[in-house]
Amino acid sequence: MSYVNDQLNELIRKNPNQPEFIQAASVVLKSLEPVVESNPKYQKAGILERITEPDRQIMFRVAWTDDAGRVQVNRGYRVQFNNAIGPYKGGLRFHPSVNLSIIKFLGFEQVFKNSLTGLPIGGGKGGSDFDPKGKSDREIMAFCQSFMTELYRHIGPDVDVPAGDIGVGGREIGYLYGQYKRITNHYEGVLTGKGIPYGGSLARTEATGYGLLYFLEAMLKANGKSLEGKTVVISGAGNVAIYACEKAQQLGAKVVTLCDSNGWIYDPDGIDLAAVKEIKEVRRARIREYVNDHPHAEYHEGHGVWSVPCDIALPCATQNELGLEDVKELVKNGCFAVAEGANMPTTIEAEKYLQENGVLYAPGKASNAGGVAVSALEMSQNSQRLSWTFEEVDNKLKQIMNGIFNNVSSAAKEYGMPNNYVAGANIAGFLKVADAMVSQGIV
Ligand code: NDP
Repeated sequence: MSYVNDQLNELIRKNPNQPEFIQAASVVLKSLEPVVESNPKYQKAGILERITEPDRQIMFRVAWTDDAGRVQVNRGYRVQFNNAIGPYKGGLRFHPSVNLSIIKFLGFEQVFKNSLTGLPIGGGKGGSDFDPKGKSDREIMAFCQSFMTELYRHIGPDVDVPAGDIGVGGREIGYLYGQYKRITNHYEGVLTGKGIPYGGSLARTEATGYGLLYFLEAMLKANGKSLEGKTVVISGAGNVAIYACEKAQQLGAKVVTLCDSNGWIYDPDGIDLAAVKEIKEVRRARIREYVNDHPHAEYHEGHGVWSVPCDIALPCATQNELGLEDVKELVKNGCFAVAEGANMPTTIEAEKYLQENGVLYAPGKASNAGGVAVSALEMSQNSQRLSWTFEEVDNKLKQIMNGIFNNVSSAAKEYGMPNNYVAGANIAGFLKVADAMVSQGIV
């Protein structure tokens, strides 16, 4: 038995009922086989055992009162996964599907993603099974205040710096920050994704979507292709999807789909993004409303964006949204590149099919790292009490995403798997964290 296989079996034994965590860890560990086989120091230092076990996992009760005066109780989580290269950093997700397996998979991915950015940030993730959909502003505030009343004791600008994720945007970060400040009396960079008037960074809202397109551009260029004139399908209609769509359009592509969890829209003329922003960012309504003012566009209930013929597919909604049947359809229709805006949107079988069929495939931990990279830039601006211009941040983001592509691509080549960006991302992300762990001793 190899070190990797032993550790995988042990991980499956120790984490029953955590399918998402096992899925994420299996993909990473399998790609690390050539690295750990050729570097016995990692086995000697027990790196795989330690890197797959979070430093700590915090679970807590979040009690709040709804508008009808009823007491509601949700479960809160913060998993501080690894701080070998910097304070824990990673988003908070508010969605009814949230459980420990999902938070652990996200926290584990975050360790490698944050390492790839080249910035000094460790990995963590948190959230709650709270559903913000349909809640009033007062209910959202009450929930956020209760959540922070427990979380504040575990975080700090040099300890753990949460940010947004699904269901957590500027409004929620504002309420969370207000409560942190009220309890601690500290005005400091403890959360990122803050509003611009109180310490937020310009370009943070756009960062994940724009960063995805910068990574995609670099990957296409390295393979003799470009975005100009290409048809793109995108899933999701949230933060990542909207700004991926914006940058894709700026770079000359035509985006024809978006979706939410109820259904999807197809606009053969190209998505009218101003209309989507009005529906999603201003009115917080459903994507189906798009067709009211765009009669030539189509709305369909359910899951279906991957059936639309395209050159490039960008999954930007949630985990495991792109399955084997979906990728067969994409390949049949001539899609040549898939770049992940969401975290782990592609199932293991679908990923294998894409790679076997020569589709250029960018894994989320590399291609969606722009959000956390700009969060780290927000931390730097907060520490320096400065704010940089949009162009400064956007230029740094572009440099970081190009740097990530180059590192991922070199690591893939060095270990004999050119164009396998999954292996390249896992290896490049791992080496920095593993070397720091070796230097810091058995802790
Ligand atoms: P948002 O909450 O802003 O948007 C999520 C979007 O995806 C919504 O339109 C939502 O629809 C849709 N969606 C969620 N679940 C499903 C589903 N099962 N089927 C179809 N659509 C669905 O989240 P973000 O845009 O911030 O996050 C999207 C993904 O990107 C996540 O995987 C997240 O972890 C990842 N990510 C986000 C980063 C960030 O900076 N925000 C950074 C890196 C990764 P509905 O409104 O109906 O729920």
